[in-house]
Amino acid sequence: MSHTERTWAAYPTATVTGYPRIGPNRELKRALEALWSGKISPAEFETAARSVRLETYGRLTELGLNQPYAVPADFAAYDQVLETAAAVGVLGGAAGDLDWEEYFALARGTDDRPALEMTKWFDTNYHYLVPEIGPDTVFTPRPQRVTALVEEAASAGHTVRPVLVGPVTLLALSKAAEDYPNFRPLDRLDDLVKNYAVVLAALAEAGVEWVQLDEPALVADFDAADDDQLAGLAQSAYSTLLSAAVGDERPQIAVTASYGSLRAGLDALASVAPEALTVDISKPTLQADPDYIQRITAAVPQLTHLVAGIIDGRNIWAADLETQLETLRGFDRPVSVSTSTSLLHVPYTLEGEVNLPVDVAGWLSFAEEKVTEIEALAEALATGTTQSREVAFARAARAQRTRTESARTHNDAVRQRTAALPAEVSRGDVNERRAAQKARLGLPDLPTTTIGSFPQTDDVRKARAAFRAGRIDEAEYTDTMRAEIKRVVDLQEDIGLDVIVHGEPERNDMVQYFAEHLDGFVTTANGWVQSYGSRCTRPPILFGDVSRAEPITVPWSSYAASLTDKPVKGMLTGPVTILAWSFVRDDEPLSVPADQIALALADEVSDLEDAGIPIIQIDEPALRELLPLREERRAEYLQWAVRAFRLCAVGARVDTQIHTHLCYSEFGQVITAIQALDADVTSIEAARSRMELLDALDDGFHAEIGPGVWDIHSPRVPSTAELEDLLGAALKSIGPDRLWVNPDCGLKTRGYRETEASLRNLVHARAALLGIRQGAGVAAAAHV
Ligand code: GLN
Ligand code: ZN
Repeated sequence: MSHTERTWAAYPTATVTGYPRIGPNRELKRALEALWSGKISPAEFETAARSVRLETYGRLTELGLNQPYAVPADFAAYDQVLETAAAVGVLGGAAGDLDWEEYFALARGTDDRPALEMTKWFDTNYHYLVPEIGPDTVFTPRPQRVTALVEEAASAGHTVRPVLVGPVTLLALSKAAEDYPNFRPLDRLDDLVKNYAVVLAALAEAGVEWVQLDEPALVADFDAADDDQLAGLAQSAYSTLLSAAVGDERPQIAVTASYGSLRAGLDALASVAPEALTVDISKPTLQADPDYIQRITAAVPQLTHLVAGIIDGRNIWAADLETQLETLRGFDRPVSVSTSTSLLHVPYTLEGEVNLPVDVAGWLSFAEEKVTEIEALAEALATGTTQSREVAFARAARAQRTRTESARTHNDAVRQRTAALPAEVSRGDVNERRAAQKARLGLPDLPTTTIGSFPQTDDVRKARAAFRAGRIDEAEYTDTMRAEIKRVVDLQEDIGLDVIVHGEPERNDMVQYFAEHLDGFVTTANGWVQSYGSRCTRPPILFGDVSRAEPITVPWSSYAASLTDKPVKGMLTGPVTILAWSFVRDDEPLSVPADQIALALADEVSDLEDAGIPIIQIDEPALRELLPLREERRAEYLQWAVRAFRLCAVGARVDTQIHTHLCYSEFGQVITAIQALDADVTSIEAARSRMELLDALDDGFHAEIGPGVWDIHSPRVPSTAELEDLLGAALKSIGPDRLWVNPDCGLKTRGYRETEASLRNLVHARAALLGIRQGAGVAAAAHV
């Protein structure tokens, strides 16, 4: 290069790949919701977002990320894929100038335009918006979206590192525009790279010396492109981007590859030699790929600065700093210290978590504590001693010691029970079960039911909060919940549904509720993690062997059963979903807690049976989500996941009908596993795909199926005719003796107006389809 005079900023020795952005007290969530409901103006929203950003920069600097470019500028008002898609301009004509109104129209839809599809980001519980790209989508870069962040930071005294989703990942995660079902967005890579070049040039112009491009797609297997193809695409994209001159045409480029280890992508990236490369060498990744570090040092040229993503960005365990320091010293060159993934997946801080048991709290690190760990590792690497970071190293050592020695993580009785489990777990012949259940339940053809939850009213939420805060006693709380259950049971009777649920008013969240009632879990007060947009969850923390002290759901289900002559369906969350939506222990393979949770749920099944409950649903909406990113690890996962589900149900009587429910995803890769769950009835999200999945699912499947006919993700009330139509389509693949009639998912987020109207239409549609003379309850209902 000609401009050898100038030296560019070195990559910071301590940094993070990304940081939470919802605000330590969910300030951004509140600002977003205030904007959407018209309570604040776009300008006021902008001010709120700006203060979240600047406070984050300030806090990270205070915590020790004080070198230039150590703090990432990875803010997203709704989602990072949408931010990058906007910056490199792939949102097409629809996006106009992309003011806030346009931006949120894409994210959330409007009355006359649907939102972009939303789906899970890799194997996490974060959801991103899926850009739609066609062969002639016009790409219009808007670099000012990124340069504005840099300038804002600079005016507050911060030299930040802009972060974009990289071009290969952006296209791998996009879908073909509606009119071009067979088009592959990755085929537009060359066009897209030109737009990245425009954005990079604008950043260079703004004086930026480092930009980060995230390429997690290179650690996953996709249907649209295999590992070698993605590697080839990455090589071509980055050789173009990197051929521009540093300084005038682009900043130095730091590529990250999070969520697992690189295969072909490692050689591809090594061959083009970006100025820096962050690799995920967190414990879970190295457990799955023990040779990864050797492969990295062998492949990556000295020209590329290596950044060790050694602090786990996805889990909350305090790092084993001594061991990690050894690992870092084992590299054949100086490395920077970072996180394996963005810290987006963990809560802000342990500060204020006063209700956690002190021993467990000592084992944890949230985002701020992780930054402290990174700073300590970097300092120890630089100085050759841990002395100046004694406090951090001592905390880490204590965490390792007390956690290993703790009696709280280990439960002998549970271990003995799991050790005695049989290898094969089977409930016997499905047809025999069907006959026994038919005789016991006496349900009509095409039975109607719901997925479990009913709308959560303000009163219910307030009562739960008051009970939690000790403002009302248990008796008052129970009365309030019972009154709600009675209301919901009466409503279902009035509508004419065949299988009744209690409505789940006692549950804040289907996973947190069970975690709160199982030993081996703790829950946090303020451990919010962004799930999508303004939505956050507080994942429970699984720290030890799991057991159940007493029945959890039985009192509520039995109360519901006492109010009706119709069968009541008990409602449990399955083991895989409980694991998927919690922070899990890292000292055992997931199959171990999966079996333990399954045994606790099996006891619950048995207690529900003893209480006379004839139908029990075990929800597994997250079955698809935990599917490993690499093809060859999927069979093993599905094997333990399916086994855990079957363990919950294996002790059930033949005439107890076991239901399961799945939603949120494309089921293609897990159809066989869904069948292998061997539930008697499977309800599954299908309304948006217009029942397409049924043919695939029905192949070789003898159990009963309830394809969701009402898309509950929208407040829209489906008409009776429309529901009849969908049911008619379903009847073509599934006989009337095996088809159930139900919504897509739980009704918790819906209002009563559309719930009641839609359920009445559902019952009408079933009746019309069967040509049954309508019963009293049905006839009384008004058409909507
Ligand atoms: N039973 C749960 C409910 O109805 C299921 C929710 C889900 O599938 N996510 O809310
Ligand atoms: Zn669901």
